[in-house]
Amino acid sequence: MKLYLPSYPQGHHFISEELEPSELRADSALFLKTIHVQIQLDRNDPYLRLNYRMNAFIHLICDRCLEDYEQPLNAEGMLVFVLGANTRDKSQDEDEIKYISADTVEIDLSTDLHDILMLSLPLKSLCKDDCKGLCSSCGCNLNEDTCDCHIVTNP
Ligand SMILES: [Zn+2]
Ligand SMILES: [Zn+2]
Repeated sequence: MKLYLPSYPQGHHFISEELEPSELRADSALFLKTIHVQIQLDRNDPYLRLNYRMNAFIHLICDRCLEDYEQPLNAEGMLVFVLGANTRDKSQDEDEIKYISADTVEIDLSTDLHDILMLSLPLKSLCKDDCKGLCSSCGCNLNEDTCDCHIVTNP
């Protein structure tokens, strides 16, 4: 996704787009649908402040019961671009502040959006918080079945 700067004069802008997962280099096996990207752009030269909001739908496999499931994924982030910092050493870029040259016409946001999306992925995949998982003896899905494996019989 690219931002063509001449389209956005000083002031507030609201940008809304539907992107294919591939446009953000997102795995299409993981991201099932288009990714809805909303950007609030605040331009006050030399500063361009962007607030991102992304809504996606992801396909995961539960860590406990190994069933497929889908869940919405919401990601948010913020970035500031500073125009006209030609002499700046690129290595001074901070996480949320990027220095770009004054004659920049187009900013490619794909990498930043990609990173924000990836950081928002859940660390654990659980189809539901109280997923009972699989029985360690017979392998049945304890969310759907019951088994007798763990019934302790007192002597
Ligand atoms: Zn599960
Ligand atoms: Zn069992």
